[in-house]
Amino acid sequence: MTISNKMIGFSKKSSWIRLMFEKGAKLKAEFGAENIFDFSLGNPDIPPPAELSATLLRLAAEKNAGQHAYMPNAGYPKVRQSVAQKVSGEQGVEVGFENIIMTCGAAGGLNVIMKSLLNPGDEVIILAPYFVEYVFYIDNHGGVPVIVATAEDFSLDISAISRALTPKTKAIIVNSPNNPSGQIYSEKSLAQLAEALKQAEKKFGAPVYIVSDEPYRKIVYDGLEVPSIFNAYANSLVVTSFSKDLSIPGERIGFIAVHPEVQDRLQLLEVMILANRILGFVNAPALMQRVVGEMAPASIDISVYAVRRQMFCDILSQCGYEFVAPKGAFYVFPKSPLESDVEFVDILQQNKILAVPGTGFGTPGYFRLAFCVENSVIQRSSDAFRRAMDTARNKV
Ligand code: PLP
Repeated sequence: MTISNKMIGFSKKSSWIRLMFEKGAKLKAEFGAENIFDFSLGNPDIPPPAELSATLLRLAAEKNAGQHAYMPNAGYPKVRQSVAQKVSGEQGVEVGFENIIMTCGAAGGLNVIMKSLLNPGDEVIILAPYFVEYVFYIDNHGGVPVIVATAEDFSLDISAISRALTPKTKAIIVNSPNNPSGQIYSEKSLAQLAEALKQAEKKFGAPVYIVSDEPYRKIVYDGLEVPSIFNAYANSLVVTSFSKDLSIPGERIGFIAVHPEVQDRLQLLEVMILANRILGFVNAPALMQRVVGEMAPASIDISVYAVRRQMFCDILSQCGYEFVAPKGAFYVFPKSPLESDVEFVDILQQNKILAVPGTGFGTPGYFRLAFCVENSVIQRSSDAFRRAMDTARNKV
């Protein structure tokens, strides 16, 4: 075999969402796209804020020398300044522009961080259910993912995390609001996490970094706010993007923000900037940097997602599904009424509903529904959800 065995193995393992996509395409071809309830993809469907295209057009028309040239690998200083201001407001900790690195989305930023932190065999704790790409990003840079389950309501299980800490633990990735559970980790639980990590540092003699992956920070419901990780813990980095809050995931623009008191800050920044370069990103896209530099505080209309979340919660409870109402992001993660989530997702498909099994997020026994679809799709799916539940009940 000429192709990497490891990549072939990964390709098989990572196929849940792709599998749903393929099955979905088949069903759509057979029955017509309008007759399929496709909740499989977390691809924002609501338009970016109106000022985005105006800003983009204006900046694209500018004729400044070097506007398409390479720039410092960390990004334009002026853009980093504007992002630093936004981060300082959100985190309640003053962050200077030198602590910001512009990246190709949160995905690019996570790879930069992993490359910069990990020695071969270092462990990174991830919390199930998790964004499946973490496993690959950690492996990309020689690390070992250590999976720790969250509590019944998907909040942090501090004792389980404490038990998983070893002298090899280099970092823990937290994602709040969470994909796929919609959970937001409370200020109290972040303080407890910080305490557990400080204890581990005392015991093992090295810091454990918190990597806070926050692309859904602005997508929150019922007036909730996402607590600040920088307030809770100094050895922390925020990695995020504008993919979800400006609805522009295809533009690949995001950033890393480093806590001003993180251990070895200058060296960490230096190697992350180098990692941005040598991973082949070189720098985040120039035009999009300038756009988000002007639009950093802007956001899509979250109320659109809030309405869909309510509709989905109402329909699912009326049909007898058990779930924790999402506090943020745009997913619901109900319990599968059958022990096998894969079998139940098959039943959903027979009823023309596309969902992703919890197994794909390290949490069998659940399934994920993304509400990046028109309200009418959610509304019309009610009977199909009911039929799927009836079929499952007749099986147990
Ligand atoms: N982290 C989480 C939890 C996500 O759900 C996603 C995308 O869906 C990403 C990171 C990557 O986002 P992007 O690279 O588009 O910023």
